[in-house]
Amino acid sequence: MSSTDSPSLLTPADELRIAGWHAHVYFDAHTLARARALCEAAAARFPLVMGRVHERPVGPHPDWSCQLSFGNDLVAGVIPWLALHRGGLTVFIHPNTGNALRDHRDHAIWMGAIRPLDLSGFKGFSDHDNLPQHP
Ligand code: ZN
Repeated sequence: MSSTDSPSLLTPADELRIAGWHAHVYFDAHTLARARALCEAAAARFPLVMGRVHERPVGPHPDWSCQLSFGNDLVAGVIPWLALHRGGLTVFIHPNTGNALRDHRDHAIWMGAIRPLDLSGFKGFSDHDNLPQHP
């Protein structure tokens, strides 16, 4: 790499540590259609995986949610796209490093608002562990 190349935002060590990313789009009964349309548009625009549209809180998420799963190679595309298109919806973005507690608590990127997560399901993780990713 020459000195004129743009530096990567992730070091090689970080790229090894981060297996991928989740963006969880939050919504409620009033914003369900908007959230579904946003997630479907993201899945049409990027080669990411759109999860189920959960009309109830699941896992650590306090609100209804839909998960978008994508690799490091899409971060620079998906995150700005969500910033421009989220339409007022709250989006919770986190890396998957193998320590779900830290990923959700310490490594989170929030768009719109910070919502209180239920981290009790991650109590098997410590600040120092890198255990297999919580499902
Ligand atoms: Zn997630």
